[in-house]
Amino acid sequence: DFIGGVRMKKIRVISLVLLFALFFTGIKEVTAASYVQVHFINVGQGDAILVQTPNENILIDGGGKGKGPQVVSYLKKNKVTTLSAVVSTHPDADHVGGLAYVIKNMKVNKVYAPNISHTTLAYKDFLLAVKSKKMKFTVAKQGLEIPTKAKDITLRFLGPVRAYAKSDLNNWSAVLHLKHNKKSFLFMGDAENAAEKDLLAKKLISKVDVLKVGHHGSKFSTSAKFLEKAVPAYSVLSVGKNGYGHPTSDVSNRLKKVKSTVYRTDKSGNVLFSSNGLKVTPRMVR
Ligand SMILES: [Zn+2]
Repeated sequence: DFIGGVRMKKIRVISLVLLFALFFTGIKEVTAASYVQVHFINVGQGDAILVQTPNENILIDGGGKGKGPQVVSYLKKNKVTTLSAVVSTHPDADHVGGLAYVIKNMKVNKVYAPNISHTTLAYKDFLLAVKSKKMKFTVAKQGLEIPTKAKDITLRFLGPVRAYAKSDLNNWSAVLHLKHNKKSFLFMGDAENAAEKDLLAKKLISKVDVLKVGHHGSKFSTSAKFLEKAVPAYSVLSVGKNGYGHPTSDVSNRLKKVKSTVYRTDKSGNVLFSSNGLKVTPRMVR
């Protein structure tokens, strides 16, 4: 009996020590390994954004048609072999155009796109590429999460909040919110005022550190009301030579009003934001 009691005590002490060890190494792992890198790849007029966590590589859009090889070589240069997720924000060619090539030439685990189709060749090519990998895309909609392994990183779709007219492709944009501990990023795709209004009505917009400005700085996006809530410390305009006047002085002025530091891919090239969860640091990369 006495010996049994000692043995029990010993086991209890050992398990307590083990539990503590597990607890502390667990915490250490999360803080030490946790980082997020967001690359705004300069693809001219269009979007291509790489989000890197310690365990995942996520690509948001692939630039216009013909930009696929450039995006793939950028990914390879950054040691990306597998894309855990590819997000097509909406079927417009300057976002979906390069994705077919990316999907065909990279290992891709999952594809997300909003539930709106389009008749353009760029979008058809994207669908065919997904099909050629024997995959189906998951419908991106408000509330859906892209799973991440790190406890302090969440990736959630804020939009589309609802269905829009079939011709209203921009407002169908998959809007993605990335939270890394105390820091956050908001990727607006080409969402315009109608989508922003719906996001605000649902109280989905709050202060962010980095904003991927909607629709390349079109004056019909990034309203003053939207910026009042988002108040981005940094804003990124993914923009190239275009005939639409993007980015507009209206948006530049509205961003100035909220004292946002603005980066433009046409001026800075690729822009990389590194987050450790407490601080976000931008720099230009080749
Ligand atoms: Zn666009």
